[in-house]
Amino acid sequence: MVHGSAILGRRALLAGLGGWGAAGLAGCATVPAGRPALSTLPAVRAEMDRITRVTVCLRPFRAAGPRMDVETVGDKTVVHNYGHGGSGWSLSWGAAEQATAKALAGGARDVAVIGCGALGLTTATVLRRAGANVTIYAAERLEKTRSARATGTWSPDSRIAAEGQAAAGFPELWEAMCRTSFRTFQDYVGLAGSPVEWSDRYNLLDEAPAAHAPPPPGVPHFASYIDRVRDITPRMVEVTGQDNPFPVARARKGASLQFNVTEYAHVLMTDFLLAGGRIETRVFNAPGELTQLKEPVIVNCTGYGARALWKDDSVVPVRGQISWLIPQAELHYGFYYRNVSVLPRRDGIVLQQVGDSEAFGYNDDREAPDLDETRTAVATIAGLYARMVPRAA
Ligand SMILES: Cc1cc2nc3c(=O)[nH]c(=O)nc-3n(C[C@H](O)[C@H](O)[C@H](O)COP(=O)(O)OP(=O)(O)OC[C@H]3O[C@@H](n4cnc5c(N)ncnc54)[C@H](O)[C@@H]3O)c2cc1C
Repeated sequence: MVHGSAILGRRALLAGLGGWGAAGLAGCATVPAGRPALSTLPAVRAEMDRITRVTVCLRPFRAAGPRMDVETVGDKTVVHNYGHGGSGWSLSWGAAEQATAKALAGGARDVAVIGCGALGLTTATVLRRAGANVTIYAAERLEKTRSARATGTWSPDSRIAAEGQAAAGFPELWEAMCRTSFRTFQDYVGLAGSPVEWSDRYNLLDEAPAAHAPPPPGVPHFASYIDRVRDITPRMVEVTGQDNPFPVARARKGASLQFNVTEYAHVLMTDFLLAGGRIETRVFNAPGELTQLKEPVIVNCTGYGARALWKDDSVVPVRGQISWLIPQAELHYGFYYRNVSVLPRRDGIVLQQVGDSEAFGYNDDREAPDLDETRTAVATIAGLYARMVPRAA
């Protein structure tokens, strides 16, 4: 039985915002919901006519966790690296390190990587840094992949496995991947164009968290591993009185990494090509077609595409939609409020409905945008700022 506040905390964490643990609520001073607040923060301009695009992405969820085993196809060694759920960006460097060790274990120096999303490009980069000759074969390059339609926040255990269904040893593997990734992301902080940066995050509540029902039949409870790495990111702390800049009863504040994916993708692609990596556009319709490649070792980073290519029905789509507002350079904070997450990326302010249960988007493969969802998210955020008194000029 999962406690309601644990689920709320988990969902907030999925948005990279940290949760309201039961301990955090105990003794917390409340103020009436709806009180006006003197805003000390620049406002998000949440208006429908400032939406520049609406995109949909499918998280490649596997109850057992990502597929990272090694298989033989004809005379090829295939290292799998797909199915990273809602954590593909966050775990990418750690997963790349694991796949690289397996790919080079037999002494091969020529390696093919299938896929040019978050996993394919980081895996190809780590292989290249290890001295391998690497060619990426992919239907789409990064900017056209599902990875380019992700939220872009540090969310290393978002929909990464189902509670009680992950393979033995996966929590330890997850922790190793998570720590490697986190360390590697720091190398991209501070670069021109801010491919990766830290931003403040708030988790806002109008009232005490409502108890959530357990997931409906057929929807797993997603595993949570974040407690294993509490030491690497700042803790969320309660902010009260003048320190709470929002007109809500309860606010917690922390900080997290954000990935400004447009610039980050550009840096990753440029670095890989400058280091001598190659990219070829190619579509594979069945595993057997991989035997046509010249490389003896192949890393399969096809993400949700593996469901069709490898006929792997264990890959379940978890739909998520992002509505992009015109960027505002003055914004350096994100937040989670009434099931909407807001992230102030340099390439657009990312608005996303995250739903009120773990069933939201589960097994939903619709990739067409739902504009009602966008209107609801915009109205929710506009409503929050409507209750705030702007700063004096
Ligand atoms: C709404 C949403 C928000 C998210 N937010 C975050 C977040 O904030 N942080 C985070 O860490 N993760 C997030 N994720 C998860 C993340 O986006 C995924 O885990 C990640 O994109 C998976 O990357 P990938 O490289 O495995 O797959 P993809 O990005 O799908 O790339 C697959 C590659 O394989 C190629 N390919 C596939 N099939 C074939 C084929 N048959 N032949 C040739 N090429 C093929 C594709 O062309 C592409 O190049 C989010 C996901 C969603 C849906």
